Amino acid sequence: MIIFRNVNALKTYRRHGLRTHGSDVIFTSVLRVNMAASMISQAALRGLQLSSSKHLFLDKFKGSRLSSRRWLNLQEYQSKKLMEQSGVAVQRFYVADTASEALEAAKRLNAKEIVLKAQILAGGRGKGVFDSGLKGGVHLTKDPTVVGDLAKKMLGFNLSTKQTPKEGVKVKTVMVAEALDITRETYFAILMDRSCNGPVMVGSPQGGMDIEEVAASTPELIFKEVIDIFEGVRDDQALRMASNLGFKGHLERQAADQIKKLYDLFLKVDATQVEVNPLGETPEGQVVCFDAKINFDDNAEFRQKAVFAMDDMSESDPTESEAAKWDLKYIGLDGNIACFVNGAGLAMATCDIIDLHGGKPANFLDLGGGVQERQVYEAFKLLTADPKVEAILVNIFGGIVNCAIIANGITKACRELELKVPLVVRLEGTNVQEAKRILAESGLPITSAENLDDAAKKAVAAIKK
Ligand code: ADP
Ligand code: MG
Repeated sequence: MIIFRNVNALKTYRRHGLRTHGSDVIFTSVLRVNMAASMISQAALRGLQLSSSKHLFLDKFKGSRLSSRRWLNLQEYQSKKLMEQSGVAVQRFYVADTASEALEAAKRLNAKEIVLKAQILAGGRGKGVFDSGLKGGVHLTKDPTVVGDLAKKMLGFNLSTKQTPKEGVKVKTVMVAEALDITRETYFAILMDRSCNGPVMVGSPQGGMDIEEVAASTPELIFKEVIDIFEGVRDDQALRMASNLGFKGHLERQAADQIKKLYDLFLKVDATQVEVNPLGETPEGQVVCFDAKINFDDNAEFRQKAVFAMDDMSESDPTESEAAKWDLKYIGLDGNIACFVNGAGLAMATCDIIDLHGGKPANFLDLGGGVQERQVYEAFKLLTADPKVEAILVNIFGGIVNCAIIANGITKACRELELKVPLVVRLEGTNVQEAKRILAESGLPITSAENLDDAAKKAVAAIKK
C-alpha cells in the first residue's frame, strides 16, 4: 500500500518514473508525513529502500492546489545540453531517430569507443530489456559499424526497466556518445530538502546503477552537505564532498569545480533536482558526468521558456493528456471503480472511502468548479474507455457546480455511450432536487445514494455481484 498526502504527491511519484503497479493507493490528509523532493535521491538521503518500503509518505506540495499543468521531464540528451552550456563535463554526443542516422553519428564521432543509449524518461536503462530481445538500454562498442544494428533493435521497441510500467516505454530516440573508460563511478545530486530548508548536496563514492541499494545497505557511504542559499557552495564544502566521493590529488579540485558548476546550473534553470549517476573518473584523469537527470520547478516556467519548450508530451499518459484538454484532472489508478467527482479533496476522500469498503478506485478525477455538460460527457467517455472499469461512482457536492447540469450530462453520456457498467450517483447541494428529478425521469438504471459512505458501499457491492 502506498499512502500519498495529496494528488500532487502521487504525480511527483509518477514524475520520477515510479509506478503504482498492483499496490493500493490511498490519499490522506490526516497523517503528518515527511516530504520527498525526489524519491530516489531522498531515499539515498534517508537510507530508505524504495522497493521494500511498505509506506511511502510524500508531502512535497502540502496545501498546494491541483493544476492541470504537466510536470516537465527532459531526456538525458536534453539535460546534457544544458550541462554543456554551464561548463559541466559531458562526453561528445549526437542524437538519432533512425538506425542509419545512428550509424552515421557513430562514424562521425570518430571515437575510440562508442556508447549507444536509449532515450526514455525512466532510469535503470543499463539493466533494462527491450521487447526486441536486446538486453541493456546502454551499449558500449569499439566498432562503429555495429551501432546501426544495435540502434535497429532499440528504436521503435519498448524498453522496460525497474522504473517503467511492465510493458516498458517505446524508444524513439537514441544518443550516440563518445565512451570513456571509467575507473570509478560515484553518485552526486543536488536537490531541495525540506528538513534543510533549501538545497542539499548528496553524494556517495559508490555510484553507478543502484544508489537505493547503497543507501539501504551502507548508509555511512552517503554524504550530505547543506547549501546556504546566500553563500552558495563554499570552496571547503565542494572540496570536502569531492574528497568524500573519493577523488584524490588533482582530481579532487576538478571534481569540486564540477560540483560548483552543477550548482550554478541548478540555480540557472530553476531546478529542484540535478542528479548525476555516475559522476565518473577516467584513467586519463578526468571527472565526467555520464548520466543526467534534472527536475524543474514548474512555477518557474514563465522565466524558463527555453527549457520548457524542450518538453515533448510523447511519453505522458494519453488519457491524462486527453483529460487535460477538457480541463479535467485525471490520474489513472489500478482498481476497477471509476470515480467522477468535483473537487480534489472530495475526489481523494472518495478514493479513500472506496478503499475502506474493500474496493479499489480505477482513477482519480476532479471535474473542477465551472463544469459544463460537455465536460461531463467527455469525462464519462474517458472513464468508460478504461477496460478495467466495472462500476462508476459519481460523487458531486454542488457549490458552484449546478447538480442539474451534471444530471443532464450523465443522462446524455449514458445514452450516447450505451453505458454497460453499474452507475451509482450521489448528488448534493445546488439544485439537487431538479437533478434528482432528471435522473429519476430518465428511466436509466442509475442507483442513487444518500451520502458518500452509502455510495461507496453500493459501488463496491455492484462489483461483487
Ligand atoms: P541508467 O542510469 O539509466 O542505467 P546510465 O547513463 O547511468 O543509464 O548508464 C548506465 C551505465 O553505463 C553507467 O553506470 C556507466 O557504467 C555506463 N556508461 C554510460 N555512459 C557511458 C560512457 N559515455 N562511457 C562509458 N560508460 C558509460
Ligand atoms: Mg545512471
